[in-house]
Amino acid sequence: MGRLAVGMAVTVAVAACAVAAVVVGRRVKSRRKWRKVVSVLRELEEDCETPVGRLKQVVDAMAVEMHAGLASEGGSKLKMLLTFVDNLPNGTERGTYYALHLGGTNFRVLRVHLNGQRSSVLEDEVERQPIPEHLMTSTSEELFDFIASSLKEFIAKEGDGSNIPMSRRELGFTFSFPVKQMSVSSGILIKWTKAFSIVNMVGRDVAACLQEALARKGLDVRVAALVNDTVGTLALGHYHDPDTVAAIIIGTGTNACYLERIDAIIKCQGLLTASGRMVVNMEWGNFWSSHLPRTSYDIDLDAESPNPNDQGFEKMISGMYLGDIVRRVILRMSMESDMFELVSPKFKIPFILRTPLMAAMHEDNSPDLREVARILKEVFEIPEVPMKARKIVVKVCDVVTRRAARLAAAGIVGILKKIGRDGSGGITGGRSRSDTKMRRTVVAIEGGLYSSYSLFSEYLHEALNEILGEDIAKHVIIKVTEDGSGIGTALLAASYSS
Ligand code: ADP
Ligand code: MG
Repeated sequence: MGRLAVGMAVTVAVAACAVAAVVVGRRVKSRRKWRKVVSVLRELEEDCETPVGRLKQVVDAMAVEMHAGLASEGGSKLKMLLTFVDNLPNGTERGTYYALHLGGTNFRVLRVHLNGQRSSVLEDEVERQPIPEHLMTSTSEELFDFIASSLKEFIAKEGDGSNIPMSRRELGFTFSFPVKQMSVSSGILIKWTKAFSIVNMVGRDVAACLQEALARKGLDVRVAALVNDTVGTLALGHYHDPDTVAAIIIGTGTNACYLERIDAIIKCQGLLTASGRMVVNMEWGNFWSSHLPRTSYDIDLDAESPNPNDQGFEKMISGMYLGDIVRRVILRMSMESDMFELVSPKFKIPFILRTPLMAAMHEDNSPDLREVARILKEVFEIPEVPMKARKIVVKVCDVVTRRAARLAAAGIVGILKKIGRDGSGGITGGRSRSDTKMRRTVVAIEGGLYSSYSLFSEYLHEALNEILGEDIAKHVIIKVTEDGSGIGTALLAASYSS
């Protein structure tokens, strides 16, 4: 071999070594970065842990806060609002009634015919439309004119040939925001939640605003009941099943109400109702306890929200927020690693990942997680997501949803504990589990997150069983009501019609 040849061989060998070193170096770096992804995931899992012991602490905290909120005005982050609904529909109601439903994202008008026989609600007409986004932050006049116009169009379609008597129409207004009620048919807005914030509304009578808008549109319709959506859900639940004691909404936001004994509502001494009971709107979205497993992502989400330090429970549980918690986690993962090969600027846009899409990724059963890749591409514009990154994203969705569902379950058991339906005899009762006869207890539930996200509802049921134990849990029935917040409100308009 000549000198030249040897020289060349050496050069080639050196070059090969250098290339190999770079490749190995990159792999090591990449592995190190991947380890970072895994450690972000591990940290998330740890911070979101909800073992049954912790859930029971949340149960107790919920029951204690309920007591405190009933004891004095401002006694708890739970407002425990009076609804003045002391009688729930029982099936004897007759006539035609309307309901307007203003939810977090949708608006509905509906009409029901009641013929006095339980479970024969004839819901003959429903119209649903998304609330135009600009109305959520415009003026109360614009919002209520939109609502009144929708009702006017709805009624106009009834035509002359309808069988509806021409006497004054009565309607229930489902309003899914915290209201301090003065009566069944009036109440002032305490604050906006979800994506709403109309400045000149807080402190005003919501029913009066609607009544005025109806008059502006020339409609002879009386607002007979102003109802929180949870109360509507409870009303429909109770109409079909008198063992229904509470109602939960888990949709864009989350809230709960239940039937309370009048003598337990200490902050309103002298309150009397024929039934000795009243529905209390808990506004549980604002529940807080140091036992809640909070992460840095929750803290950031809260700080950047329009309502910091508010609705802490809701921000961990409801559909408005779950997708955004997931987005925050994958943003951090992408910044600390080359998980997606690039940090998409889209990762930084708040609420760009909607919860239904997050759920679709979570529930992707295809072997190559095709849907996960498609959604990441659609939402974040990441062209090619490696398989192992897809798996991580699914895992993040799982951790966030599982925590949400289990906390919601703990909240439900908290209510059952407060009213002595958790099999333990209530928090002040001295009876033991064995001598407490557990009565059949129905909780009505509604909302897109629970009804459309099956892993969410599965996790919720699993946690209920864990907390209550199977013997007790079998007496607790979670019943999905279909459009209870709307139909139930029409039922309440019937109960409280003039
Ligand atoms: P609202 O709470 O606005 O009155 P819904 O009860 O219908 O209305 O809940 C809608 C919310 O439920 C959405 O904002 C979304 O967060 C959640 N949701 C709807 N569909 C799904 C789905 N398929 N998977 C997960 N979450 C869903
Ligand atoms: Mg709703």
